[in-house]
Amino acid sequence: LAPEFYQALKELSSAFHTGRESITAAKTLEEKLGEAKEEVRWGDQPLDRLPPELELKGVSVAYQGRPVLKNITATIAAGRMVAIVGPSGAGKTTLLRVIAGLVPVTDGQILINGQSRENVREEAWFDQLSYIAQHPYIFSGSIYDNVALANRKGASKREVFKAIEQAGLAELVALLEQGIQTPIGEGGRGLSGGEKQRLALARAFVKQPSLVLFDEPTKGLDLKTEQILLQSMSQLAKTATVITVAHRLHTVKQADWILVLDQGEVVAQGTHADLEAHSPHYRQLLGLEEVRVEGGRKE
Ligand code: ADP
Ligand code: MG
Repeated sequence: LAPEFYQALKELSSAFHTGRESITAAKTLEEKLGEAKEEVRWGDQPLDRLPPELELKGVSVAYQGRPVLKNITATIAAGRMVAIVGPSGAGKTTLLRVIAGLVPVTDGQILINGQSRENVREEAWFDQLSYIAQHPYIFSGSIYDNVALANRKGASKREVFKAIEQAGLAELVALLEQGIQTPIGEGGRGLSGGEKQRLALARAFVKQPSLVLFDEPTKGLDLKTEQILLQSMSQLAKTATVITVAHRLHTVKQADWILVLDQGEVVAQGTHADLEAHSPHYRQLLGLEEVRVEGGRKE
């Protein structure tokens, strides 16, 4: 249980401006538990030129000696949207977490605007980052608090309402007697997985980060919610570098660049058109073969 707990604390720092406190809390806890074998390293430099360009250079990650990501090299251009696709267990979530700075690299380097991320100040990094996990952390409090606290300066009710609308939660909130003051999280109203993710998206809208990491849900999304998520992504992408784990063809097609991950390795990368034409792996993954056969039959 303990490692999950301090991971959750660290994730919080990507959702909230209170990054410093949650990072410190997580570290103290780790030290007490004696769990922290390896740490993500940070420096004292500001994070300039936003949205940032990211470069992964031979990045490998191992859990207890078992390799999970192997020698990943990729460039994520400033202000672009990059999708990560791959079968379950390929290492997609781990890749997002290592980029987020939640998991240390075992080997290789992550460069931000050409400099090693190890030089960047930890708080400066988390201030610019929204990590929308598959199971985002919701703390005990109102919907308003859960969203407003994502912005350093706080957010007005109006801003929170707007963010909630952009994240596709307006209908839900309208149904609640207490509206955005409804208590949620532990001791409050339970939210479904999809609702939690949309709440995390609402946080991103009030935070206005320059880097968005999104772990797209695999299932349970109706068409309408999918549309809202897609719109949200392109909205955020106007001002941020976006990296999204993607399962849906719609999301993948929206990306400027796609990384195909399999068993911890990037087996192909390129644009949708490139990969559709040249990567059997990619076509199979997105079910493009079937689409083509069906299309052929109809013609
Ligand atoms: P994906 O998101 O593509 O399904 P993950 O990144 O979640 O894949 O997992 C990749 C591999 O790493 C899996 O074999 C998984 O069991 C393992 N893994 C993920 N997180 C941990 C962890 N905290 N400790 C040990 N192994 C892990
Ligand atoms: Mg995953």
